[in-house]
Formats: sequence, structure tokens, C-alpha cells
Amino acid sequence: MLKTIELEQRFTSGVYAKRDLNIVRGEGARLWDDQGRQYIDCISGQGSANLGHAHPAVQEAVARQAAVLISCPEMFYNDRRSELLGRLVDWGPAGMGRVFLCNSGTEAVEAAIKFARYSTGRQEVVAAMRGFHGRTMGALSATWNKKFRAPFEPLVPGFSHVPYNNLQALQEQLSEDTAAVILEVVQGEGGVHLGTEDYLRGAQEACRENGALLILDEVQTGLGRTGKNLALEHYALEPDLVCLAKSLGGGLPIGAVLLGERVADLRPGLHGSTFGGNPLACAAALAALDALEQEQLPARVQTLGPAFIERLQGIESPLIRQVRGLGFMIGIELKEKVAPHLKTLMDQGVLAFPAGLTVIRLYPPLVISEDQLGQVAEAVELVLG
Ligand code: PMP
Repeated sequence: MLKTIELEQRFTSGVYAKRDLNIVRGEGARLWDDQGRQYIDCISGQGSANLGHAHPAVQEAVARQAAVLISCPEMFYNDRRSELLGRLVDWGPAGMGRVFLCNSGTEAVEAAIKFARYSTGRQEVVAAMRGFHGRTMGALSATWNKKFRAPFEPLVPGFSHVPYNNLQALQEQLSEDTAAVILEVVQGEGGVHLGTEDYLRGAQEACRENGALLILDEVQTGLGRTGKNLALEHYALEPDLVCLAKSLGGGLPIGAVLLGERVADLRPGLHGSTFGGNPLACAAALAALDALEQEQLPARVQTLGPAFIERLQGIESPLIRQVRGLGFMIGIELKEKVAPHLKTLMDQGVLAFPAGLTVIRLYPPLVISEDQLGQVAEAVELVLG
């Protein structure tokens, strides 16, 4: 019998860079490897474990629903799905009264792009430099980094990229052919860059004037990560489409697109997904949304986030160029490559991940204790100080 690592190395597709760590269990902000070593998780399943690992409410909801009904295509009605749709409409921005359910972030982006083209009868999509929106062909066309795009060209026609936080460049790119502008409120994969209020509000206004739809990709920023349910709440933005995934299902795969009033009536057959809206994922999402609210996790992040960022900013290190972030979405930009430092942090019992070559990302689960945050800061200080 081959061991886990040998088996994965032998049979994996090869598209993932792996760390030499076999994770077998999680609880709250902690993960354990097969040797019984404990880690504080500041990767949070790449943003999919905002609630922490093995959250009791999610466990319970999934177990209960699994015993009742797991699959149910959208050709039928279903109790859990209907509850989730209603819940998301109440939870999301005002005026977003319809929801499309899917299974991942990239699918949410695909759907949003299709709905924007369909609604406007226009073809072009303007995205931002450094933006990341997924890896399927449509979402990849909106993604900026050449590294992800080049091996798969030609991509979908009609996509362009303008500098982030430059309103004039965005305005100049809009034309009567623009179906949508797609933006992140904070660019995650691109290095944790915060959108300014003027830029994001200006982008919204420019879209309105032009007749284009504004898609906010909140796949990474949503579900409390930045200290609000959705990052758009920081600036009272009113987009036409909002993409969600990652932590929406409390760790289970689910994606969603919230649809505003300027999105056309969508007819049967226009789009779809076999697993979209399955009762298991819907039950998990309902439990996750309840937990987010009951445990007041966004408010927790609003309190603990700035203090944690300040603590990190106080670290004196010749290696650090800048520490920036919003809530628990934190980037430490170094003057050199981060890879060796991520390894040393791991040896210190802290799991962090990169954004590009020079930014260390810290995305603690929103349930992390103050004591654990202190331990993370100490480890960062030790490794970079
Ligand atoms: N949009 C954003 C902003 C993301 O950060 C990601 C994933 N990192 C995606 C879309 C794609 O999500 P998924 O991996 O679930 O397809």
C-alpha cells in the first residue's frame, strides 16, 4: 500500500504545486498533519473555510441533509434550495431579487458574464489588470495574468484589461459595445490590492451612464472576509451582478450569482448546471450563513482585523515592503520572493500562502482566537524580523 504522498504524486494530474504536508484533520483555525503536528491555518482553504474547519453547525446540517436528499436537479422544486434562495436575497444588497446557483467561483463568473451579454445584447467585457476571476475559458478571459492565460489561447473574444484603481482608464475603455465591467473590491490573487472608494463608485456610475452592467466578483472578498458580509458594503456599492463561492457553503462546493434589476428576465434553458442548487450544498450554505450571523463574525473581523494588521505593520524587517489589507484579507509584500519564507512559517506552525511571487497572504478563519492571532504575528516576526 503506497502512502498518501506517493499515491498523489503518482496519480495526480500535476497541475498543483504541492507542499510536503499531509493534512488529515481540522478544527476551528487549526489543522493537523498525519504526524499529529498542529498548525494555525491562515490559508482557510484558499478562502473557503472562513467559518473554520469542521464547524459544528455545518457538520450537523450536512449530516442531516445527506440522510434525507443529496441530489435534486433544478427541474424540480426543493425545500432547502428555496430556503437558500430566499436567504440570499435577504442577505445580499437591496434590489437583488434573483439568484443563480452553481458550484464554484469560476462558474459564478461564467454565469455572470453570460447573463451580462444576454441582458445588454453587447459583447465586450472590461476587466482589471491584476484581476483574477477563475480558470474556465470565460472567467480566464477576464483573468489578467498571462501565466494562466497564455497556454490556452485563443480565449473568448471581447475582453480587455485596464489598470485597477484608474477610473479614467476604465471610462475610456467603455464603449457602446461594453456588456459588463468585472471587478474585485479587493484584488486577492493579484496581491491584496484594495480598490478605492472613488474608483469603485466611479466604475459603478460609469457603467450606469454607459448602459453596461457592473459585475462584482466577491468570490474571495465575500462571506465576512473583509469585516462585512460582502466587501461592497464598505462603499455602499450597488452592482448589477455579484459572484459568490468559496466560504458560501461552509467548506462545501457551492457558487451563486446575485442578480440585480438590470439583468434581463432569464428564460428556461438559457443556462444551467446539474449540481447547481443541490440540497446538500444548500443545507451547508444555510448553516454557514446562520453561523456567520449568529457568531457575528464580520463584526469580529472588523474589531480584530485592524489591530492584527497594525501589529504586523509594526514588525521591523528589512524584508517587508508593505503590509496591507482589509479585515482578515491581509497581504505582506516583501522585497524578495516569498516561497522560502512560507516554508519557514510552516516550520513555525503557521500556514500562509502566496499571492504572486512577492506577497504573503494571511487569511485566518474568522473564528481564530486572539491568542492564535498573537501566535501568528509572533511567527511572522520571527521569520521576517
Ligand atoms: N474569483 C476570484 C476573485 C477568486 O479569488 C477565485 C479563486 N481564487 C475565483 C474567482 C475562482 O474560484 P474557483 O476556484 O472556486 O473556481
